[in-house]
Amino acid sequence: MKSVTELLQQANWLVVFLLVVFIALAFASMFSPSIDWTNPKTKISKYFTVYEVTKGSSERIPTDPSIQQNIIDLAQKLDQLREAWGSPIGIRSWYRPPTINAAVGGHPNSRHIYGKAADIYPTNRKIYQFQKFVQENWIGGIGKGARRGFVHVDTGRVRTWNY
Ligand SMILES: [Zn+2]
Repeated sequence: MKSVTELLQQANWLVVFLLVVFIALAFASMFSPSIDWTNPKTKISKYFTVYEVTKGSSERIPTDPSIQQNIIDLAQKLDQLREAWGSPIGIRSWYRPPTINAAVGGHPNSRHIYGKAADIYPTNRKIYQFQKFVQENWIGGIGKGARRGFVHVDTGRVRTWNY
């Protein structure tokens, strides 16, 4: 039979083990916060919500984890741009599943399909000033669409074109 001390020691190890597991899980959830992509009000970054990704359309809800991650990565870059610009940035179009991308006339291999692109505009309406600002501050693809009211930004390689 085991002594009382031995039993207590085993119990302590169990407590320590459970504590370690608990802390590890807490850390894991801190670094990969679960986002409810079906709720438009859920924040995906400091300044952006699920609504801006999906436009409130159930057909635009991203379900692929790698696309969800692409969206979060882009949101963080857009947060930095928003902060540097110093005024709210609106989103005209972000994630577009292939069927929707085709319906709106997007490029067949558009980065919007992967959640890696967004068409953005400044809510203060200074679109040309904003486009210039984006060209000076964004590292990635830039589609200059100011005359159509937006600037396309993506996380692909550095390049610029006109709409
Ligand atoms: Zn675009």
